[in-house]
Amino acid sequence: MFYKNVILKSHSHYQIGGPACYFFEAKNVDDLIKAVHGWRRDYSDRRSDAIFILGEGTNVLFDDNGFDGLVLKPNIPTLKRDDCLLTVGAGVSMFQLLDYSMTKSLSGLEWAGGLPGTLGGAIYGNAGAFGGEIKDLAVSILSLDISGSRPKIIKRKNEDCDFGYRSSVFKKNGSKEIILEATLLLKKGHKKAIRESVEEKIKYRKERQPLEYPNIGSIFKNVPLTQIYAEGARNYAESLRKSAFSLRGSATPVKTDPFPLVPTAHLIHEAGLKGVSFGGAMISPKHPNFIVNVLDAASSDVKKLIELVKRSVYGRFGIEIEEEVVIL
Ligand SMILES: Cc1cc2nc3c(=O)[nH]c(=O)nc-3n(C[C@H](O)[C@H](O)[C@H](O)COP(=O)(O)OP(=O)(O)OC[C@H]3O[C@@H](n4cnc5c(N)ncnc54)[C@H](O)[C@@H]3O)c2cc1C
Repeated sequence: MFYKNVILKSHSHYQIGGPACYFFEAKNVDDLIKAVHGWRRDYSDRRSDAIFILGEGTNVLFDDNGFDGLVLKPNIPTLKRDDCLLTVGAGVSMFQLLDYSMTKSLSGLEWAGGLPGTLGGAIYGNAGAFGGEIKDLAVSILSLDISGSRPKIIKRKNEDCDFGYRSSVFKKNGSKEIILEATLLLKKGHKKAIRESVEEKIKYRKERQPLEYPNIGSIFKNVPLTQIYAEGARNYAESLRKSAFSLRGSATPVKTDPFPLVPTAHLIHEAGLKGVSFGGAMISPKHPNFIVNVLDAASSDVKKLIELVKRSVYGRFGIEIEEEVVIL
């Protein structure tokens, strides 16, 4: 069923966002295909025929003016197991998936301890943490291509998904496909060791991330060291020298996750932006790559801070940082 004027704030981890003209939640592939057909047939003569695919809204900044089109939520909850192979619907949350794999003593997903969102969202952005990425486990992905007049199911092997740092073919294709399910290969492990490893990641997140405020995770991608050398090395090296850091020294801020990079949180901190606020949004003093919604923030408050951070980091280091989050 198509719902009208659904407030996106309640579908966003940020608790920000105005009304979606139309909203549809599909529980299976048939529903999804019917929704796309129905939307094209009955609704596309409205102001906009745009479709936005929503997972759990943990990585999206919706606009206060809402979304002029259809927000489609493929909430497919299936989970099938064949030994170490799990075939999982896009709507299954990473918490549920991790919980299931722990119960069955399946190892490989420990890096995702505390990672919010759905499997569909994780595949779309090749989510990763603590040196792991979802691409390392994905064997194949099933998606629904909605770009033509008839929706078409596509099965891709991992190597055809063009996975990169927080990226995939689904992201590069500009959301023309809805991820339906993914087959993941885990390995047999020990329940206690898996649980301890997951709990360690959750503890780390609680200590370092401002989870007490509505947020959508790190706003910006971290900066690969290769990019720093290519475009920012002179300014950056100079500024590191001034602040008693050295790229080769022991106090180096470089970390390897999943390759050598400089955490953008470090650049924002060095640019003196910790705790800066605008309206109801604030650059978190606890983790400066998070912009938190401290007091009923408007989408424009967050966007102003995003622009400020980009300008300041470029001005200070000569490095262009790029958003990791999706901004509508
Ligand atoms: C506290 C916190 C910590 C986080 N830590 C990390 C981290 O360590 N590493 C990391 O990588 N991310 C992290 N994130 C970001 C976020 O959790 C991930 O990006 C997550 O995978 C997004 O999933 P989602 O279901 O919420 O997607 P949404 O936010 O709903 O959507 C994100 C994008 O994915 C697309 N999408 C979602 N589902 C589908 C689908 N089925 N088919 C096609 N497209 C789809 C949407 O269209 C949108 O463009 C964090 C977020 C928070 C709030």
